[in-house]
Amino acid sequence: MQGIMQDWQLTSNKILEHANRINPTREIVTRRVGGNIVRTSYAELYTMSKQVSGALIESGITLGDRVATLGWNSARHMAAWYGTMGIGAVLHTINPRLHPEQIAWIANHAEDKVLIFDTTFLPIVEAVKDHLQTVKTFVIFAGADDMPENSVGAVAFDEWIAGKSLNARWGDFPEETACGLCYTSGTTGNPKGVLYSHRSNVLHTLITMSKDAMGMGADDVVLPVVPMFHANAWGLAFGCPATGANMVMPGAQMDGASIYELLDTEKVTITAAVPTVWLGLLGYLRENNLKLPHLRKVVIGGSAVPEAILRAFETEFEVDVIHAWGMTETSPLGTLGTLPPHLMNADIDTRMTQKLKQGRPPFGVELKIVDDENNDLPWDGETSGRLVVRGPAIAGGYFKGDGGNVLDENGFFDTGDVANMDQYGTMQITDRAKDVIKSGGEWISSIDIENIAVGHPKVANAAAIGIYHPKWDERPLLIIQAEPGQDPSKEEVLAQLEGKIAKWWTPDDVAFIDEIPLGATGKINKLKLREIFKDYKLPTA
Ligand code: AMP
Repeated sequence: MQGIMQDWQLTSNKILEHANRINPTREIVTRRVGGNIVRTSYAELYTMSKQVSGALIESGITLGDRVATLGWNSARHMAAWYGTMGIGAVLHTINPRLHPEQIAWIANHAEDKVLIFDTTFLPIVEAVKDHLQTVKTFVIFAGADDMPENSVGAVAFDEWIAGKSLNARWGDFPEETACGLCYTSGTTGNPKGVLYSHRSNVLHTLITMSKDAMGMGADDVVLPVVPMFHANAWGLAFGCPATGANMVMPGAQMDGASIYELLDTEKVTITAAVPTVWLGLLGYLRENNLKLPHLRKVVIGGSAVPEAILRAFETEFEVDVIHAWGMTETSPLGTLGTLPPHLMNADIDTRMTQKLKQGRPPFGVELKIVDDENNDLPWDGETSGRLVVRGPAIAGGYFKGDGGNVLDENGFFDTGDVANMDQYGTMQITDRAKDVIKSGGEWISSIDIENIAVGHPKVANAAAIGIYHPKWDERPLLIIQAEPGQDPSKEEVLAQLEGKIAKWWTPDDVAFIDEIPLGATGKINKLKLREIFKDYKLPTA
């Protein structure tokens, strides 16, 4: 027997439609690339988004077509977002911090037809335009007055949408329809696309806005420093309009002084970013003897929260830290470190120890730790195993089938993280099985660095591993085994990489070793290397 309830498809346009009806005067406050502050209500955002849909339809965009953005967090970016998703086209957020060659590769792989970007990224777009095989329409997030000269035939966003019909039909498709696309630098090979559906995004929103997760309401003012190109600003691009919270968008300026100014003038109650951003803010607050009277909580994730940052927020500035873990593949929130009831009144050290762990999954995220034979491991807070995850907002594969089947026989996705779980479901990351380096919340592909380094005639084998760094969490160390009889210098090795990788990928140091340890299958044994170099101090640290 079936239930007799309405069929209300979970499509993301309903989020903005709700904001427009119920919280029309709540605002998105944007610091534009030029530095000026602009206020946009949800009602205005709704109109702008409908106009974007109109402009896209005129450009020939239909269901399933990909529309790419290279953009900072802004109200215009939000309009591009909802205008694209509303008509069932797919919003592809590209990470501008990637090497231009990779950006072109991703845009071609995604077959993006439209590219909308901030002025900041014009040099990148101009550099790669001849390699973009499918982009027909270029739009710059600008008005007529601040539109830069360009060689790609771009139009200004405000002019592109001006006067466009508001009649585009939204949500006229099943909830399983693709909605957003975000590439992640996987362990091996090229980046892979995570293809969110409307249903997964709406469910992720419902799952993560609850009290023990993000815990937001209409009276909150939320500053997502985390970019929209990082898995939907950790869901906030949906969660804020869904709850009616004000959004404060930092644009391109994420230094301590700029972030503080917004926190203070806009009376921000919730903010979110990777640890590196908070180092800048904390330094600025101390230098200028400032406090954070309005801020209730700060969500920190993307890499582990250092204890110094946790304690500074909690004790010096009286702000609740929510340590969060997740991945692009998990939409992204997987666990959040709100205190469980039995620890609410514990002493400060116990609470801090708990908060350094990655937190507990909300309802809708199923976690397990397993051994190499996929057997469940006990939740005793000690036993470590591969962390696997299942749920309605977890990737079931990658775009175009890249990477093949990624689920085990029970439908769990292997995160590549190694963790333990305690009896209350608190998860703690203890290691990473995947072979990537995370610097300031952004991936560096160790394999790319290694492949280029071994191209040097004096190099026999090369391995890149992440070494602890107080500011960036990890920075790459390149380990070189020289060809017999050769003695390459650090400078020679680094010169080999120059121009072939993004500058910020350049290893902070080069170490030489007689023999790089190999595993049973002949692959570099990174676990062993991490063990050998565990006390290594980078000259930049
Ligand atoms: P991304 O797909 O770029 O969001 O990266 C996801 C990966 O970042 C995870 O699989 C972890 O390896 C790492 N990560 C994210 N959040 C945390 C955290 N709170 N602590 C430790 N590692 C994290």
